[in-house]
Amino acid sequence: MRYVRVEVEGIPRWGVIQDGQVRTLRGDPYDGLLDYDGAVFPLADCALLPPCTPTKIVCVGKNYAEHAREMGGEPPGFPVLFLKGINTLNRPEGTVRAPGFVQRLDYEGELALVIRRRAKDVRAEDVAQYILGYTCLNDITARDVQRQDGQWTRGKSMDGFCPVGPWVSDEVDPGALELETRLNGAVVQRGNTGQFLTQIPQMLAFITASMTLEPGDVVATGTPAGIGPMAPGDVVEVEVKGIGTLRNFIL
Ligand code: MG
Repeated sequence: MRYVRVEVEGIPRWGVIQDGQVRTLRGDPYDGLLDYDGAVFPLADCALLPPCTPTKIVCVGKNYAEHAREMGGEPPGFPVLFLKGINTLNRPEGTVRAPGFVQRLDYEGELALVIRRRAKDVRAEDVAQYILGYTCLNDITARDVQRQDGQWTRGKSMDGFCPVGPWVSDEVDPGALELETRLNGAVVQRGNTGQFLTQIPQMLAFITASMTLEPGDVVATGTPAGIGPMAPGDVVEVEVKGIGTLRNFIL
């Protein structure tokens, strides 16, 4: 199943993609009871929204060894968590405009997952029932601000710094997904989720030992090596093979 959120006459609606069409739902898909409202729209005509309704966006830093090293450190011995504010949420095809004082604006292509039911103290072997599916995410970062502040809140949580989408798929095996980030069409990051330092079952067990995840919450699983800067006019794409491509425009 591929779940999508679309804007219909200004109102957000969840839908399911089938044969290039979006069949919209009453309510959300989190409980698994898909209540179709009878409307059908061509996917190509739909304005897509982030396919999630988070109360929080939980991010894992340094989950690929090579990325940890390019950041100037050794791979951490446990998942390093941080949050991005809800103000960062951005849509597929959405625009990103950093404040004028930002000197270095980086892409970070990542696999993300969306939570389907409240999760607290989840055991690694039970995580599947808590996950609606998987999508692409760009953990956009004001790198100079992150370094200057010595912690990550401001550099990671500027408005629009978290594009998510284009849809959520439950049809992929998250243990071995190829991920690619492209800047103006050129490949700048390539990774495979098989390289994760912490795999998703252990990641969700670790997170939910400390914080309750709610339906619609997002977990970003970390970026591979190859981070780099973007400039106004750039087009950035995060593709996870088997899911789709998330494209955004830097203003
Ligand atoms: Mg990241």
